[in-house]
Amino acid sequence: MSFTHFPTLATLAVLVTALGSGQAVHAADKVCKLSISGNDLMQYDKKELTAPADCTQIELTLTHTGKLPAAAMGHNWVLVKSADATAVANAGASAGLNNSYQQPGDPRIIASTKTIGGGESTSVTFPTSKLQKGGDYTYLCTFPGHNALMKGTFHFG
Ligand code: ZN
Repeated sequence: MSFTHFPTLATLAVLVTALGSGQAVHAADKVCKLSISGNDLMQYDKKELTAPADCTQIELTLTHTGKLPAAAMGHNWVLVKSADATAVANAGASAGLNNSYQQPGDPRIIASTKTIGGGESTSVTFPTSKLQKGGDYTYLCTFPGHNALMKGTFHFG
């Protein structure tokens, strides 16, 4: 196999990256849509979410099916490595509603929605390149105290 015929260095970089992650070089973008809801009883409706391995982007929509305002019963959806869940929840609890109960710039947060109140919905789209297939991921609500009940397992691949 010769590398002398690649037209640009960029092409080579793309190819090397693709080989390294085991993905096809020209894989089509595949946006996978997931949904979850939270209620006034401090509960998500799902304890697990799964995104197939061929998703390149994930669009997660969170709906608050309750009636209480965000200041009283706010919900968000924050995706982290399971090992980071408690620390991210603790940091978020003190960050306040203006920061959606997330420490600004927290590098442990893989993806997250803002915090919403009853009757609202919100979504976030993020690339699966941030995830490892078969990795151990948890999603949680970082409103103070909610993660005791509001958390679940996220599966990719
Ligand atoms: Zn919540």
